[in-house]
Amino acid sequence: MQTKIVDILSVKDELNKIQRAADIIRSGGLVAMPTETVYGLAADGLNEEAVKKIFDVKKRPADNPLILHISSEAELHPLVSEISDWAKILIDKLWPGPLTIIFKKSDIVPSIISAGGDTVAIRMPDNEIAKSLIRLSQTPIAAPSANLSGKPSPTNAIDVYVDLNGKIDMILDGGGSEIGIESTVVDTSDDIPRILRPGFYDYELLKEIIPDIIYDDALIEDDQRPRSPGQKYKHYAPIADLYVYSTKLDDKIGRMQSDVEKYKSENKNVGILTFNENMPYFNADVMLNVGSKYDIREMARVLFSKLRDFDRMGVDIILAEGVEEKGLGFAIMNRLKKSAGNKVIE
Ligand code: AMP
Ligand code: MG
Repeated sequence: MQTKIVDILSVKDELNKIQRAADIIRSGGLVAMPTETVYGLAADGLNEEAVKKIFDVKKRPADNPLILHISSEAELHPLVSEISDWAKILIDKLWPGPLTIIFKKSDIVPSIISAGGDTVAIRMPDNEIAKSLIRLSQTPIAAPSANLSGKPSPTNAIDVYVDLNGKIDMILDGGGSEIGIESTVVDTSDDIPRILRPGFYDYELLKEIIPDIIYDDALIEDDQRPRSPGQKYKHYAPIADLYVYSTKLDDKIGRMQSDVEKYKSENKNVGILTFNENMPYFNADVMLNVGSKYDIREMARVLFSKLRDFDRMGVDIILAEGVEEKGLGFAIMNRLKKSAGNKVIE
């Protein structure tokens, strides 16, 4: 299969290109699409054969359910059997946007989407290309991140191409993802609303909207079984071994540089992932930065692409500066720790 990369500079003027992508979706094919969080691998969410292709191409474990993407609130109702008051408020305040809401599912949602469960995850993305593709496809779109399972999520068309060239029909190139990490997942299907996966919308903001909201135990204690199956898998991992250095260390930078020297003496090719301001303190084989330490949104935006850059440069080991686990920093550390297979130095 030949994977076509199709640039979209203006949705308005290039609807014909998005229509071609929608035709692929309607005939059961796969298209990678930009969203504001990360690139998604889109298929007709009501076509089991098409959804099965997503699992095959990504090598995604079958017990990890998928998110359905919609472009208007009217498209929600056929997919769910119940909308709680909390869900209504979240929809009003935060859709379209980087928030996935879990509902009790209706019968038309195939069990391959819900991984056999009785709930369904739904999101309305805030990206004009994604919204047009969903609208023109006239079906809810299943779209996990458009990467091979286990790898860092793709935030641009080239990163999708590296993982999925030859395996999918088309990539819609809409430039870099603005947010760069996946949506916050909130379960409203139970009595107590729960955050199952941290994301761009942080705990503090959600707590203002839903004072009763809690984190799923598995996000704060390592030994709990996550309610969101995806949280248990190895994720976001570069090829190199990654270590995260916690802000709890007295001298985080000194400790990182002394470890650089230790690994270099073992003949390893060492990478440092730091902030712009801290670059002068390090001397490693490859040094990349995630922008200014005063701009944590920039860190979220570029984190996954920087991890993929290390892979292209062939480092053996990456030492990454951690951030405080508050606000958006909580979601960033959730991703970094998973990338590191939980190798945190503190
Ligand atoms: P991805 O699209 O790969 O970024 O992952 C979607 C995330 O949502 C994964 O962590 C899934 O396990 C989770 N998810 C999807 N559907 C459900 C559901 N019905 N209940 C709980 N978690 C879900
Ligand atoms: Mg993913």
